[in-house]
Amino acid sequence: MKKILFATSEVHPLIKTGGLADVAGSLPKALLSLEQDIRIILPNYQSIKHIEQPRYICTLRIDNRDVNILETKLPDTEVIVWLVDYRPFFDHPGNPYVDEQGNPWPNIAERFALFCRLTTEVAMNRAYMDWSPDIVHCNDWQTGLIPALLSLEKPKPATIFTIHNLAYQGLFPASMYQSLNLPGKLWNPDGLEFHEMLSFIKGGLAYADRITTVSPTYAREIQTPEFGYGLEGLLSHKQDILSGILNGMDLQQWNPESDPYISQNFTISSLKNKIANKTALQKRMSLPVNEDIPVFGVISRLVEQKGIDLIINCLKEMVEMPLQFVLLGSGDNSIELELQNYARLYPEKIAVTIGYDESLAHQIEASADIFLMPSRFEPCGLNQMYSQRYGTLPIVRKTGGLADTIVDALPHTIEDASASGVSFNEATPGALLEAIKRTLILYNSKSAWRQIQRNAMKKDFSWEMSANQYLALYNQL
Ligand code: ADP
Repeated sequence: MKKILFATSEVHPLIKTGGLADVAGSLPKALLSLEQDIRIILPNYQSIKHIEQPRYICTLRIDNRDVNILETKLPDTEVIVWLVDYRPFFDHPGNPYVDEQGNPWPNIAERFALFCRLTTEVAMNRAYMDWSPDIVHCNDWQTGLIPALLSLEKPKPATIFTIHNLAYQGLFPASMYQSLNLPGKLWNPDGLEFHEMLSFIKGGLAYADRITTVSPTYAREIQTPEFGYGLEGLLSHKQDILSGILNGMDLQQWNPESDPYISQNFTISSLKNKIANKTALQKRMSLPVNEDIPVFGVISRLVEQKGIDLIINCLKEMVEMPLQFVLLGSGDNSIELELQNYARLYPEKIAVTIGYDESLAHQIEASADIFLMPSRFEPCGLNQMYSQRYGTLPIVRKTGGLADTIVDALPHTIEDASASGVSFNEATPGALLEAIKRTLILYNSKSAWRQIQRNAMKKDFSWEMSANQYLALYNQL
């Protein structure tokens, strides 16, 4: 049995802004069921949804600040969660990264530096908890200083750093280095320095004993200039300790057989019941109710990464085709406005909901026929997995985790019953439009479509598989 400290800036269902929270909520649970002693550590944000009052454990003095550690459990599990409680930093409305108006926290570097320092104390068993982890598993830039700080300790626990998205690096002016009072030894081009800036993520990449990312394809892509953001050299230098492990998905929460949010539950053998969800969604979205028309769904952060601009560029052609388009998302204001404008112009074809809505997300997954995810890059991606489980065939760009989880419907993959969606290569509206047309042809060939839906629904995206791969990695250390 390994003792693992899992450091993260978000964990579902306590606090979530994206896929990292899903991973942090599921992987520890899966590792616990593999009989590992795993504990999560994260900041105690005001917006955490607590079911019961956390228990006070101790107070540590870090950088002249008194920081509390509280203990709770991940809801509906036995996974212990330690909360780093420092009110001046974390007791404000907003999410882990931005305030209520969406502005990044001006002291975000100080916040996560404090979190990293405290986690290092816990990892070194200096927090009066009589618990010494074998492994400290860090995630994304917010935890990047932990492997760096631990590198100065002897003996120290082994460290793993997982990249969930290399686009976010925690870059700050060099002067921040002094203000954070970080050890001088870590400031060099092989350490935390990145082109005369302080880079939190480099702490993970340069000092961790193992680096992972969330799909094998993304692990290769980030070693190239197109996806590496200047870190490709360091990453390819580290290729012997770098690997990709696909995320799993939460099979309980995303299960068409028991999903409480949808109008009509269905399974692989009662796929015809999926239709009732489609008509319910059409009603809810005030679109014409029509069982036969293919419905395209999108659930996404509206940012450049997700290729929403490619979709917007296709909408003019799409509205000429027999289809409907339903989108749920929030993000860049200009993208939101453009989408809302299309919805106003074509109310019979396009429905756009701006916001974050868990139940509508489930309804779209269950109701749409086709799910669009033309990401420019995608470390792993979850929605394409959910879609497959709901028999909603994804159209994806062949990149990162999308390439690793979808088998393009081609004559030979249809023949051998492995096809589970449609993929395309170039990040251009033309390539996406061609994929859409190819999908519509498949949609109209009912028996082929049914078969691909079944192939998709049968795929195994369980966390158990991923957790076993992480465990194998822990056991190497
Ligand atoms: P990323 O983490 O890059 O945003 P993923 O596909 O890995 O992308 O995960 C996104 C997660 O957030 C999924 O669980 C998805 O359903 C959810 N999500 C994204 N946008 C919304 C939204 N507007 N409303 C509800 N859920 C959303």
